[in-house]
Amino acid sequence: MLYRQMGKTGEMVSILGFGCMRLPIDSKNQHVDRKRASSLLDYALESGINFIDTAYSYHGTNLQEGGDSEVFLGEYFQENTARKDVYLCTKLPSWLIEKKGDFDNFLEEQLKRLKTDYIDFYLLHNVKERNWSKMEDLGVLDFLDSAIADGKIKYTGFSSHDNIDLFKDVIESYNWNMCTIQYNYLDENIQAGREGLEYAAKREIGIAVMEPLKGGILASYTPPEVTEIWKKAPIQRKAAEWAFRYLWNHPEITTVLSGMNEMKHLVENIFCAEDGHPQSLTTEENELMEQVKKAYKDKIEVECSACDYCMPCPNGVNIPQCLSYLNQAAMLHDASNVYMQYHYNLKDEEKADKCLGCGLCEELCSQKLPIREKMKMAKKEFR
Ligand code: SF4
Ligand code: SF4
Repeated sequence: MLYRQMGKTGEMVSILGFGCMRLPIDSKNQHVDRKRASSLLDYALESGINFIDTAYSYHGTNLQEGGDSEVFLGEYFQENTARKDVYLCTKLPSWLIEKKGDFDNFLEEQLKRLKTDYIDFYLLHNVKERNWSKMEDLGVLDFLDSAIADGKIKYTGFSSHDNIDLFKDVIESYNWNMCTIQYNYLDENIQAGREGLEYAAKREIGIAVMEPLKGGILASYTPPEVTEIWKKAPIQRKAAEWAFRYLWNHPEITTVLSGMNEMKHLVENIFCAEDGHPQSLTTEENELMEQVKKAYKDKIEVECSACDYCMPCPNGVNIPQCLSYLNQAAMLHDASNVYMQYHYNLKDEEKADKCLGCGLCEELCSQKLPIREKMKMAKKEFR
């Protein structure tokens, strides 16, 4: 396993992080399958993975209550003496913060669930414009300072899917140690994107990447055009390995989080992490990567830049997300995974079928896109 320094903390973190959002599930009770999840974690730790990423909400039935992921990890590390050798990263459910006391209440509850005295990396989960200003007003930064002073957390961070402007604002507001952003070779220009990656790195903030495989798409759904390009590579790699190697090629990225719920994937990812050195892709490989990006993008249905200028939709539709799913479906022959993600990740009111066709968004769209027409397409695609 290779390790990189998490920003200015000096902590050496494995370049592959163990994501605990999609652990194996026991079909009888829908809880984390302790036996299978423990075997995966045992193997991960034996192989040198030392960054474990979870959140209050992971493996919950809804976003309003704590899920089973932290509880499982608490039980696991009570049995397993490796707790002191790993970096445990968990996240405060930002969207549930209503009053000042909530910060401490959630942290105390999380420490209990994780059966630990301290959390190594404590992140504000899914910082968005609305919850960020609310948390700032309620004194979240003072709360983080005092949690560090009390020894309950060691380092701070935040995760975000919002736009680059908010990302920069949040970065500038505090002496963060890390951030978690969505990044992969098709998402260089959405959300924080490459600009955010470089912005954070310049400030010596460690970067964990989520969605390295774009929800599994870059591993499981390779269009034939892309397969043909990869065949030209001097070293043959699986699609997932190309996606990981692309990320590790960036010196700015500290660790790549992957929710590995099958031993086969874990073993493969650990194997390819052995060669995940920064700037290790050759010129020829980088050129092929550019061709692959182009091949995917040629299939794109709508050139939405995810700038968010059209938002909020008065009827609650999450326009950029609906368009992103439409694009993902257009790129693949089998869009069943995209269909699942669309229905799992979007709330009912955010889906394209809630579009009333008022046209307000089209007046605001920076790319002059026919959004109403695309919403009709998305409605049909994901019905
Ligand atoms: S046209 Fe549809 S998506 Fe656009 S603002 Fe109106 S309701 Fe929202
Ligand atoms: S304004 Fe246009 S380009 Fe920007 S997010 Fe909305 S639909 Fe996409």
